[in-house]
Amino acid sequence: MSILDNLQHIQSVLNAAPQDVNLVAVSKYQPDQKIQTALDAGHRIFGENRVQEAYKHWQSRRDQYSDLQLHLIGPLQSNKTAEAVALFDVIESVDREKIARALAKEMDKQDRHLPCYIQVNTGEEPQKAGILPADLPAFLTLCRDECGLNIVGLMCIPPVDEPAAVHFAFLHKLASENGLPKLSMGMSNDYDQAVDLGATSVRVGSALFGDRDS
Ligand SMILES: *Cc1c(COP(=O)(O)O)cnc(C)c1O
Repeated sequence: MSILDNLQHIQSVLNAAPQDVNLVAVSKYQPDQKIQTALDAGHRIFGENRVQEAYKHWQSRRDQYSDLQLHLIGPLQSNKTAEAVALFDVIESVDREKIARALAKEMDKQDRHLPCYIQVNTGEEPQKAGILPADLPAFLTLCRDECGLNIVGLMCIPPVDEPAAVHFAFLHKLASENGLPKLSMGMSNDYDQAVDLGATSVRVGSALFGDRDS
């Protein structure tokens, strides 16, 4: 299947949903020419999980594609905050207090107040980034009231060895309880389930571009 076929297929699944769903095309570790193919097809929303690589893929394209929308979907190190705020349009991985404070400070400094998602560690996995579900209400208050961040929704990456649908339903419940409208959930193997469970954004890499070079 070509990238164009994949794009069309994924988009048709998203279009069939009752809610609006954005396709975040995850371009990490993908060759440049595949990214260009998606751009040439008119796609404009892309996700990267590392700031450094994102600059390589996107810095020179920012001016060329004025309607580009770049999402940071991976853990942010505090020493990369300034670069992240300058390049990205949406931060999906607000996952701890230190980063919330660093982002707020940098967004004020650059006067770029980007929409943000809180990443929730729905599986409570020790090695995984994200806020524990029980800590979400207090963290949301900190992000909004103390830091002044524009929190629009929640993001999760389910444990690999558990049914993803359980985590998608849980994230949806957490978002409703906390009055958050946006849900970033679902990747190549399960984006269709995420759409059924209310995703407003899916992050798809390999099902669109093919296997990564990593
Ligand atoms: C890499 C990545 C994806 C895309 O994964 P695929 O399985 O290739 O679709 C989605 N979300 C995050 C946070 C990622 O790091």
